[in-house]
Parts: sequence; C-alpha cells; structure tokens
Amino acid sequence: MAQHMWINGEAVAAASGRTFDVLNPFTELVLDSVPAGESADVDRAVAAAEAAFAVWRWIPAVEHADFLHEVARRLRQQAEALARQLTLEGGKPLVENLDEVSWTAACFDYYAELGRHSRGRVIPSIESSQLNLVLKEPYGVVGCIVPWNYPLLLMAWKVAPALAAGNTIVFKPSSVTPLSALMLAGVFEHLPRGTVNIVTGSGKDAGDALVRHRGVPVIAFTGSAEVGQHIAQLAAPMMKKLHLELGGKDAFIVAEDADLDVAVPGVAWAALLNNGQVCTSTERIYVHEGLYAEFASLVAEYVEGLVQGDPLDPSTDLGPMAREAYRAKVERQVTDAVQRGARVLAGGRRPPHLPVGYFYEPTVLVEVDREMAVMHQETFGPVLPIARYKNFEQAIALANDSVYGLGANLYTHNARYVKQFYEGVRAGTLWVNDPLTDNDAGPFGGFGMSGIGRELGEEGLDEFRQTKHVHWDFSMERKLWWYPYQEYNRAREE
Ligand code: NAD
Repeated sequence: MAQHMWINGEAVAAASGRTFDVLNPFTELVLDSVPAGESADVDRAVAAAEAAFAVWRWIPAVEHADFLHEVARRLRQQAEALARQLTLEGGKPLVENLDEVSWTAACFDYYAELGRHSRGRVIPSIESSQLNLVLKEPYGVVGCIVPWNYPLLLMAWKVAPALAAGNTIVFKPSSVTPLSALMLAGVFEHLPRGTVNIVTGSGKDAGDALVRHRGVPVIAFTGSAEVGQHIAQLAAPMMKKLHLELGGKDAFIVAEDADLDVAVPGVAWAALLNNGQVCTSTERIYVHEGLYAEFASLVAEYVEGLVQGDPLDPSTDLGPMAREAYRAKVERQVTDAVQRGARVLAGGRRPPHLPVGYFYEPTVLVEVDREMAVMHQETFGPVLPIARYKNFEQAIALANDSVYGLGANLYTHNARYVKQFYEGVRAGTLWVNDPLTDNDAGPFGGFGMSGIGRELGEEGLDEFRQTKHVHWDFSMERKLWWYPYQEYNRAREE
C-alpha cells in the first residue's frame, strides 16, 4: 500500500500519481512505496505554508511553546513505532533509533523554551529622544532538506528552531528514509493547518523544486558537500538565505598518555556508530608513534568482537549500511588504500555469514597515507584508517589536513595538548575524551567544506530569524544636520 505525503493537513498522493519504493537494507526487500513528489506538489505545499505563515507568525511565543512541547510529547508517545520504522528503512540498530527519537523530542522542548526567551534587544540610542530596537523576525516559508542517517533528529534541528522563530515549513526527507518522516504527520497535526508540510520525492525533482521556489526564502539543508554546492548555485540568483550542514572527515588524535582501555573502545564507537554513517564519524585516526602498533592491534581485536546482524535484534552492534551504493563506495576506498600500500588489520570485506543485507565488516587499516582516498575523501562507512605522528604539533597539522572541518577528537590528560587542540584545530565541534556527544544548547556546524551556519543553541534559532534595526524618535523635531549646510556649518563652529 502506497503511503501519502502530507500537505495542508491532508494526506495526499503526488499530483503525477507516481510513487517510488523504499527498501529494507537488512532484507534488501521493498518495505513500502511513497509518492514521488515534484514541482506541482512543492507548489501546493509552499502555498499552504505561505497561508499558514500569516497565522503562525502572530501566535504569541508562549503559545508556540505549547505547540512545540506537544510535538515533543507526541514523539515520545510514538517512540517505539518511530524507532522501529527508522530501523527498518535505515538499518541503524534499534537502540540507536530509540535514542534518536528521544533526542528529537528534547530538541523540540529546548526550542519551545528558547523561542519565548527573546525577540531581539534594546540598544543604547544615539539621541536621548530615541528608542533603538533590534528586532528578530521570521523569514516566511523554510525549505528543509535532510539526509537519511538521522532522519528525525536532523529534521528537528531545523524544524524546531524555524517554528519557534515563527516560520512555517516544507520538509523534504531523504528518499532512502521517507517512511519515518511521513509518520510525523501525526506529530504535527495539532499545529495550524499548513504550518508543517511533508513532501516526499527525489532530490532531483522535489528537492530542486523546493530550492528554486520563489516563495521559499530560506533553505536549510543537511547532506553531502556536492549537493550543498549544487543548492548554493541554484539559490544564488535569488539570494536565498542558506543554511548548509555538509560532510566531514573528522580526525581523532590519541596522545601518548591516553588510557588505552578507554581510547580503544572510544575510537571504535566514534568511527563505527551507525556504521560510520555519521557526519562527525571519526574517519582519520592519528596515534603517537610510541603507541601506534599496540593501539592498532587492540583496535583490530576490539572491532572483531562486535556483532553484525539484524538491527532489530538487541544483541546487534552494527546493522547493514543504508544502501548498496554506500557500501560500494567503502569497497572502492579500501581497495584503493590497499593498492597504495595500506595493510588490513581487521575486516576489509563483506561478512561471509551475512550474504543478504548491505553489510561490510568493521575495517582497520594501517600504514595509510594522505594520498589514499580513505584519508581525504568522506568515507561514510565502517573504516578506521590509523596513521602515526611524532609530536603534538604534527598531530594538529595532520588533523587540519582536510578540506572539511566539522569535528575533531582528542584523547589525553595533558592540559597543554588540550589548549593547543582547541586553539589550533579548524573544526566546529571539538571533543576531548568524549566523542560524538551533542548538546541542544551548544552550536553545531562546520568550517570549510563542512558548511555554512550553525544548528542548535541560540545560534541555531538565529539562523531562522532576520534582523531589523528600528530607530524610533519620540520628539518629531527638525534636525540640526539637515540642509541647509550653511546653518549646520555655523552650528558646528559655535
Ligand atoms: P545527499 O546530499 O545525497 O542528500 C541529502 C538530501 O538532499 C536528501 O534529502 C536528497 O534527496 C536531497 N537532494 C539530493 N539531490 C538534491 C538536489 N539536486 N536538490 C535538492 N536536494 C537534493 O546526502 P545523503 O547521502 O542523504 O547523506 C549523507 C551526507 O550527509 C554525508 O555527506 C554526510 O556527511 C552529510 N551529513 C551532514 C551532517 C551535518 O550536520 N553536517 C549530518 C548528517 C549527514
């Protein structure tokens, strides 16, 4: 049975009547089908969101807060069902998806409160007769385009602050994971009709149409750098406000004083969570030369003990990758590395006992160098390439040896290293001894090719508010510095 999109508070098919299939990456079988939305459907959704904006933007912030807390409550109420759907279509282990739903709900609670905290500020005026206001206002319709790896969480990082700021939404989920997104209709149905609209479809059709639409002044996108560049080019002629959260190639430095019984499982989790399909996955590991051989063999031994299998099974650590194309990219990078001289210490193949499903063994590579694709292109897969460094200055330089700058990690007790690390590494999030944690109150985003703008925190709310400066003079007096300048010059001389 084909699912429906959700436009103007109604479940609808695509105007064309076309649908596309959604796969289960564990069974490689079709789960369901969803509407293949395109420009006619985007037009409908934008019209609904524009009409809703005229209502939503004027609702008092304290009432916005009630609506958003109710979104959080409904998410928690449906957590089991949402997490199961996320697992079926995306392949993450169920426990990771239960976490994702709870973080999604927490994000709505956070922005429910932050949205009623301020609407700008009052600044000192240049005349005693004036009041100067800095006003923060919504833009209108925000187009949200998200990837498949955290389909609900990354939706929340955009939709929650955008709604709290008074905007309305057209949301296009990834065509890999649209089913969990469509379950959100019930989560948003208490909002005024058309405030949130969900259009399924391919990036090429539905995504492009949303970016090109003149009624959508803001595009908030999370995805690959390539698609981010394409969106920036499409949006440039209209000078749209862009928010781009793109790829990463995060470095992980292990200093000579690191506790290996913590650093080994820490690195493995940072690199393998969701099969390495996290934008801030550890993708380059730099270990002090004194520890290198021991560290690499401990990591290899550790990852060989992880359990691959059915992501719904509670004993599974690693499910399948999300799609065959993503596994094929990992295979190409590992082959390239080996051809250039890398050695495989663990994995490096599809698990023989799991012939069905897009599985790839967690893979440890040593003797890697910067010329290998696995050391400079985003991998987005379960691969841990481990390189060595001689001194900490070199480690910082290696961490910065990337066009990306999303996150970076360090294991050490040494305060001097920590200072060098947070001052020297060009990345938006820096983790010391605690990889991959998020905090709704702290901004998240990247340097360089990792994107433009920040999500979460106060910064994440401001991405969806435009700024006005109001000069208000209560006196209605003729000003001294107006024409004629003869009088003004005379006054200056006095
Ligand atoms: P992707 O760029 O292929 O797709 C992301 C979204 O963009 C999808 O909804 C897709 O349908 C849409 N899209 C594709 N082509 C489009 C087009 N021409 N116009 C408009 N929209 C289009 O990325 P993906 O494979 O879904 O996700 C993986 C990527 O996302 C990785 O590069 C990863 O690093 C990145 N990511 C970044 C963050 C972050 O916060 N920085 C978080 C998660 C994932």
